[in-house]
Amino acid sequence: MTDDRAMWIAGQHVVSSTGDWIDSEDPATEQVIGRVPAGGADEVDAAVAAAAAAFDDWRYTPANDRAELLHEAVARSHQHLDVLIELLTREQGKARPEQEEEAEWALTSLRYYAELGRNGSGRVIPSGEPRTQLNLVLKEPYGVVGAIVPWNYPLLLLSWKLAPALAAGNTVVIKPSEVTSLITLEWIERCFDHFPPGVVNVVTGTGPEAGEALVRHPEVRVVAMTGSVATGQHIASIAAPMMKHLHLELGGKDAFVVAPDADLAAAADALTYAALINAGQVCTSAERVFVPADRRDELAERVAAQVAVLRLGPGYAPGTDLGPLAADRFRDKVERHVASAVADGARVLTGGATPDRPGYFYEPTVLVDVDDDMRIMTEETFGPTIPIAAYRDLDEVIDRVNASPMGLGATLRSSDPALIKRFYEGVKVGTVWINDPLTDNYAGPFGGMKLTGGGRELGPEGLETFLETKHVHWDFDQTPKDWWFPYPED
Ligand code: NAD
Repeated sequence: MTDDRAMWIAGQHVVSSTGDWIDSEDPATEQVIGRVPAGGADEVDAAVAAAAAAFDDWRYTPANDRAELLHEAVARSHQHLDVLIELLTREQGKARPEQEEEAEWALTSLRYYAELGRNGSGRVIPSGEPRTQLNLVLKEPYGVVGAIVPWNYPLLLLSWKLAPALAAGNTVVIKPSEVTSLITLEWIERCFDHFPPGVVNVVTGTGPEAGEALVRHPEVRVVAMTGSVATGQHIASIAAPMMKHLHLELGGKDAFVVAPDADLAAAADALTYAALINAGQVCTSAERVFVPADRRDELAERVAAQVAVLRLGPGYAPGTDLGPLAADRFRDKVERHVASAVADGARVLTGGATPDRPGYFYEPTVLVDVDDDMRIMTEETFGPTIPIAAYRDLDEVIDRVNASPMGLGATLRSSDPALIKRFYEGVKVGTVWINDPLTDNYAGPFGGMKLTGGGRELGPEGLETFLETKHVHWDFDQTPKDWWFPYPED
């Protein structure tokens, strides 16, 4: 018996006009656990109409009231936390402790933006005629935001859009990933149904159908999307000529650099975590490792020894370290990257195979003898692979880090201040982690450079992205100005 869901539009359950469905699987068993409607342009039209109608009141709802509604969503989420984490784990796949963290981080995002949204925005600037004029710089909500979300952290990455968009006074139409639509509907229906109808809506469906209809809809003024570079480029090609505000958080190929002074035992621990959390399905996963040539063998052996004892299993099974990949096509890509690296001369120290069991599992894999031009070092793998390359000096490694067209994050292991400063100034990425990889700070903006997209979530920047700037020039005096027509004759 599967769990059939409806979409959430204007506070109502809505099924698709086409009658088509999308299956959702447990990636650890390949069993279908539920279905969501395959929505399209009709459902997007209905959701955007509801969001546009709700915007008229929502934008004038006091920020303090909006904050209380967001806090209420947190309270409701806590009431339903076990159910939410259970479904999140079953549908998305990663180990339960990571799911618990994801849920808690998502709620922190709601709390953070609830409070940030209370603060006044905009400013009063000096006027040209101070006795009779007032000049206001206002920060206004855009209107309807289209929030397009991936599957690797479906609640967290949704919260980074939903919370600031709502706190800023926008209304939202969410298009979740096809892979994690059940948990998205569960969260929104259970924990956001106290918001006025139409303020938060969910349209499920495929990217090319529901997602693209949302991007194309003229009343959607902001497209806030997290996903792959290719999808982001496609969305930009549609939205840019319509002059929509684009907020794109795209893929990465993050480097993990071990400095000559680094403690290798601790570096191996940090690397294993940075590369394998969520089975490597993190936009900021360590996907390229650089270590001094004379220390490569020791680091690789330490990492391989740690990786070899990690326990694969369903995310909900106690003791699991690594869950499955979220879908078959994601595992195929990992298999292709490893096979092509091996064909080009890379050596597998541990892993490198698909285990003989149901589910989309792949063994965590450590490779050496990799070249920078192998696909496993250039394209996002998004899986449990750790390719380790050697380098000679820091300037060389900074150039190699920057050789990727993407620029999300980078990690350095070192205690040498001069080297650390040279590194963080030299690398073209949005986040640099010194010794503590993949840790977010809610007050610290997160996002990338280059093809990763340039949007910023979290921090005040994450609220600013959902606010549009307007300048009001106000003269209290209706007397004609002496510089107006007609101009003097001499
Ligand atoms: P994806 O690009 O396949 O899909 C992302 C979302 O876009 C999904 O909801 C999908 O349905 C939708 N979509 C697909 N085609 C569309 C179209 N034509 N029009 C509109 N919407 C469309 O990405 P994914 O596989 O879900 O997620 C993994 C990717 O996300 C990786 O590249 C990863 O690096 C990236 N990611 C980036 C960040 C970040 O903050 N930079 C965070 C997490 C994941």
